[in-house]
Amino acid sequence: MSKTDAIIDIQNVSKFFGELRALDDVSLSVGSGQKFVIIGPSGSGKSTLLRSINRLEDIDQGSILIDGKDIMDPKNNINRIRMELGMVFQNFNLFPHKTVLDNLTMAPIKLKGLSKKDAEEIGMELLHKVGIQDKAGVFPAMLSGGQQQRVAIARALAMNPKIMLFDEPTSALDPEMIGEVLDVMVALAKEGMTMVVVTHEMGFAREVADQIVFMDHGKILEQGTPGHFFESPEHPRLQQFLEQIL
Ligand code: ADP
Ligand code: MG
Repeated sequence: MSKTDAIIDIQNVSKFFGELRALDDVSLSVGSGQKFVIIGPSGSGKSTLLRSINRLEDIDQGSILIDGKDIMDPKNNINRIRMELGMVFQNFNLFPHKTVLDNLTMAPIKLKGLSKKDAEEIGMELLHKVGIQDKAGVFPAMLSGGQQQRVAIARALAMNPKIMLFDEPTSALDPEMIGEVLDVMVALAKEGMTMVVVTHEMGFAREVADQIVFMDHGKILEQGTPGHFFESPEHPRLQQFLEQIL
């Protein structure tokens, strides 16, 4: 893929926490509409990579372009770039003192200047889409983990992002709730959303991923299609890792 085709263009990125190199010369190009799944052991830099994409972490070396815009360039408004990026975390991170619907409408009203009425209309459509329109008026604590994560996905979508980033979205869920969240993500993938998903749900990866990326110690050790990954993994660290999780 040429640089200009990539909606996420990561080139030679390194990130240090003190002496620790959490990202070590990472390059990755994601085309518009593509789905990337990132796997790798705990501490391998997966979250740091996702967090660097929307500048929750500042990278130390290399460049990250979102839709052609360098996120580290002070001439580019990072908050504007962030509007293109929806992020979903392991622990939902909903606002506990706001209703489900208010969780969805807050950012569109504040950051996009939508009227309350318009924001609520969009919010209700999205709650419908993730199957929890009947919970619009309740507080997050009243919901199951699976429902909370679906609210978090709807909240990210309420900003109408071009790209969705998911950091282990089902890792905090009871097994019976994982499916309902993955179903929402599969539907989103089918609509053509560009997605980068850190997950060890290999069924999801097999079904949805265009490319799977294996990280270890801050480096990308292998990248390829699901077929390649599951049938002919090359790197011994990846073989070892797949044996553990499959
Ligand atoms: P993963 O998501 O793959 O489990 P992370 O990206 O969270 O890995 O972490 C990569 C490495 O960076 C780990 O060694 C972790 O301890 C370290 N790390 C992550 N965030 C910080 C931080 N804010 N300060 C210091 N070290 C960090
Ligand atoms: Mg992580």
